[in-house]
Amino acid sequence: LEKKMVDTDRLAALGTLSTGIAHEINNPLAIINEAAGVIKQILEAPDMAQLPRQGDLLMALDKIETSIKRAGKITQQLLGHVKKQGPRLATTDMRLLILETLALLKGGIKKKQINILWKTEEKEHMLITDPYQIRQVLVNLITNAIHALDTNGTISLSIHETPAYMILGIEDDGVGISSDNLGKIFDPFFTTKSFDQGTGLGLFVVNKIITGLNGEIEVESHPGQGTVFMIKLPLNSGGMAQ
Ligand code: ADP
Repeated sequence: LEKKMVDTDRLAALGTLSTGIAHEINNPLAIINEAAGVIKQILEAPDMAQLPRQGDLLMALDKIETSIKRAGKITQQLLGHVKKQGPRLATTDMRLLILETLALLKGGIKKKQINILWKTEEKEHMLITDPYQIRQVLVNLITNAIHALDTNGTISLSIHETPAYMILGIEDDGVGISSDNLGKIFDPFFTTKSFDQGTGLGLFVVNKIITGLNGEIEVESHPGQGTVFMIKLPLNSGGMAQ
């Protein structure tokens, strides 16, 4: 008979997360509710024919749209992460996976004319890992790097191997992170971005995934100079490739 242990830390963390999610979903819902009220009021007004307050209507609809998008982003980030039961391992070429991710994000990269600099020679870097989860990690980290950069900034990528680990480096020469914020960036819902830009879940999910694959994540940042994230993954995440 398997004995189940109650992990109180885990439960507490889950409680905090649920409260956070409820709160973060509640905000856009409240805004939607208020904006819908405004629309109703305008449409119900007896002098509607005389005074079509089109600007107010559009503003209210805009708020509704932004809020729905935000709530959607939050659930998408969280669902994308919890949907799968445990890692699905496969033999993966990390360089190829990074190239695929860059292709996914090419819109943002082109728009800001970002330079991609490889610090690693062009060869295979194979490891057994969950490519879907690692792609999510790469999307989140590279998206953050793009956000942190001005036009013409640079994202540098590296892959190093030790006998037991593969180490990925994702570096940008963007705005950087203040030392005050550095300790909070992995907290769920911590964001310095605007309501329609950030959810504060990207790095929380990244950290969850990497820890789940028995890896480690490190970050170093210098405000005004840039940020580097180092992802250390075991060459074999503890399972057989499918
Ligand atoms: P979001 O991107 O939705 O804000 P994240 O969890 O991905 O959520 O990031 C949290 C915060 O960490 C960001 O709002 C930003 O302040 C900071 N951050 C993350 N990556 C970088 C980076 N490469 N450069 C500068 N700041 C970053």
